[in-house]
Amino acid sequence: MTRLPIFSVALLAAISVGAMAQSASTVPSDQASLQALASAPSETELRATITKLVSFGTRHTMSDTTSKTRGIGAARQWVKARFEAISRDCGGCIEVVTPSQTFTGKRLPTPTEVMDIVAIKRGTGDPNRVIVMTGHLDSRVTDVMNSKSDAPGANDDASGVAALIEASRLLSKRDNRATLVFAALSGEEQGLYGGKVLADYAVAQGWQVETDLNNDIVGNSRGQNGAIDNTSVRVFSEGTKSNETAAQATARSYHGGEVDSPSRNMARYMASLADTYLPDLRVHMIYRTDRYGRGGDQVPFLQAGFPAVRVTESHEDYTHQHQDLRTGTSDEDRGVRYGDTIAGVDFHYLARVTALNTLTMASLSRAPAPPTGVTIEGALATDTTVKWNKVAGAADYRVHWRDTTAAQWQHQQSIGDVGSAVLKDVVIDDWFFGVSSVSADGYESPVVFPGDPGSFTRSPAPASSSSAPGH
Ligand SMILES: [Zn+2]
Repeated sequence: MTRLPIFSVALLAAISVGAMAQSASTVPSDQASLQALASAPSETELRATITKLVSFGTRHTMSDTTSKTRGIGAARQWVKARFEAISRDCGGCIEVVTPSQTFTGKRLPTPTEVMDIVAIKRGTGDPNRVIVMTGHLDSRVTDVMNSKSDAPGANDDASGVAALIEASRLLSKRDNRATLVFAALSGEEQGLYGGKVLADYAVAQGWQVETDLNNDIVGNSRGQNGAIDNTSVRVFSEGTKSNETAAQATARSYHGGEVDSPSRNMARYMASLADTYLPDLRVHMIYRTDRYGRGGDQVPFLQAGFPAVRVTESHEDYTHQHQDLRTGTSDEDRGVRYGDTIAGVDFHYLARVTALNTLTMASLSRAPAPPTGVTIEGALATDTTVKWNKVAGAADYRVHWRDTTAAQWQHQQSIGDVGSAVLKDVVIDDWFFGVSSVSADGYESPVVFPGDPGSFTRSPAPASSSSAPGH
């Protein structure tokens, strides 16, 4: 029989008057190491990576693959060598693989090999659980088919690639129970092909991908309208699962779950980490899969049934994206310098965004898997019962609840190493609920919303094959 903890009357009183019925947040026993990690990303390293990537002239997906100095091939080889150097510094802790597929499509008129450069740091406890960080190596100018002109792509998306290389360097020095994957993708501008290559690879390997943190355009702090903000970053997450079935949608539309996909709860997890460890960076959660009408490499992961978010700077400058290098000469834009050059990258800001990713990966990879099989019961009752399947590596579970219109989890209670809890006098109708798992050393998983809408377990329903719009 499972023990059902009954909450104290004092706690119930607190809830009934609307106070925060909250036990202390979990704190990892080595919290100091996370605090150190928060300030660890090096602007020097980030600048060196972007400078190198820009030096390849163009990294267009259809550019030269044989030159050692120009084109996507040279860039891929350099990233591979960089990961291998990081691995040598940690006694071979990182393995580098280069999955590829050949595609033909609207933006790839001839069959083109799209290759990802993927660094894998296997987990010591639960290696089949996988935390992924992605950015894309390829770049473009105004004409998406132009593979010859210089396309520095300093911010889009050398910034994301620099961030993931730096995260791999920092995390190579730490233990991880789950596997960490750092992937420089290609083919993004031609149709999100590199994301598909990696999502397919993950499925073929049987990886349980807990999230993909897709970093695309993360280094600029000055918007086209002059807005300057180096203290916030946008994290986009879908509300309902991309591959939800019609039956799941029907159940969800009745019982709730529109704003509690695992991707959304991953965004909440990142926002909480930023609140705790990054006083100079706020996560601005955006309740969308991506920016309006645009897409990114997180989309193929979502279509494959894996949780994923997109991380992007708060204020974009479109004169620096997908533009031929030139200076404006018309009455409207005289003197405007177009093009994605390194001058548009704020390295302090990029280091803060890198810290957010690094902390998220460090924390997730030390936490247990999120609980599975989460259910709630309590209709026609004044108590709510929450049940879940216990997971390996968990020493404690926490039940979370929030007002149905609240953006972030508001109340939480440590339950102990059990598989269910009864929340006395918490009426099921009035709150959204979730459960997280906690390791013996205090690392907490993301919160799992009950049922199919919130489950982190991959449901491999066939997703639409239509690509999202390129960005
Ligand atoms: Zn991009």
